[in-house]
Amino acid sequence: MADRHRDASAIVRSRGPSLEAASLETSPRAHARLLTADVIDGKAMAAALRMRVADEVRGLASTHAIVPGLAVVLVGNDPASEIYTATKKKMSAQVGMRSFAEHLPASTSETALIRLIERLNGDHDVHGILVQLPLPAHIDPLKVITAINPAKDVDGFHPLNVGRLAIAHAALTPCTPLACIMLAKSVHPSFAGLEAMVIGRSTIVGKPLAQLLLAENATVTVAHSKSSDLPALARRADLLFAAVGRPELVRKDWIKPGATVIDVGINRITRDGKPQIVGDVAFEEASSVAGAITPVPGGVGPMTIACLLVNTLRAACALSSLPSPGL
Ligand code: NDP
Repeated sequence: MADRHRDASAIVRSRGPSLEAASLETSPRAHARLLTADVIDGKAMAAALRMRVADEVRGLASTHAIVPGLAVVLVGNDPASEIYTATKKKMSAQVGMRSFAEHLPASTSETALIRLIERLNGDHDVHGILVQLPLPAHIDPLKVITAINPAKDVDGFHPLNVGRLAIAHAALTPCTPLACIMLAKSVHPSFAGLEAMVIGRSTIVGKPLAQLLLAENATVTVAHSKSSDLPALARRADLLFAAVGRPELVRKDWIKPGATVIDVGINRITRDGKPQIVGDVAFEEASSVAGAITPVPGGVGPMTIACLLVNTLRAACALSSLPSPGL
């Protein structure tokens, strides 16, 4: 079992003993021993991180008269994207940043979108530019992302930032992988000597997460839809990250006892006739084996948005030749 250190910054909510565990042994002492996984409270961690960002933003405004600005570009009317962009706008305003919302119709041409990006690149009040994905099918996302000034690429998707991450010279790192690292670090201050497994190899989550884990000295395995015997691979992991997009794919018997499980998945399902959001991990049963686990919702999601604010702050500092804040 992985060594589960806890530092003062760890925000975890301890859960009660599972019914299954309680049915095996019933003495109070046995009960205490059979605690289920700690739930890593991503909401609380994100709130704490946003407060630190807000402090830095106030300091930047008072000492350098700089107000970090985030432009969020949405093309079309995808309902989930509308919710995500509205949340990003609200959160950036809450930490004292300027927020610029650019909502374009689905019929917007690639050329018009790139022209908008170029205007934002040249706007000194805008330090971060985020284009909400997915884009309508007639627009090439790579062309659009490549048009963003890499210094303002707060999503970390520009090929230059992707390359910098690969050579461990990251400037702006993708937010979800960054969030995953922070959540796992609330349990393990060091990943040295730990086996990490990432299920999923997408450009926005799986691959950059694997790079960050390597940089943190974990021993990393990346699995995907063509990997064989996923449960056996996963059972080796002290740190298990699921970024698949398959509801509750990861079951109890995939998890090494005591492992830390970070669930990136956001899957909309209907259960008992009601709409529900679940992760890529079967939370209840996984909690009876894992040492610590993130919930969905309330885990990676809120931390991802907090990391976007961190990136915007970092971009604002870098563009003004100021040192990066120590967040
Ligand atoms: P993608 O669809 O781009 O990638 C999914 C990855 O999972 C692929 O590498 C795919 O393999 C792999 N995969 C699919 N099915 C299986 C399977 N049965 N077994 C093993 N591997 C499989 O998804 P994203 O990376 O963009 O997102 C993953 C999940 O994370 C989604 O639920 C998404 O909604 C969520 N998400 C959450 C965020 C947050 O802020 N919390 C942010 C971003 C994403 P292959 O490459 O072989 O096809």
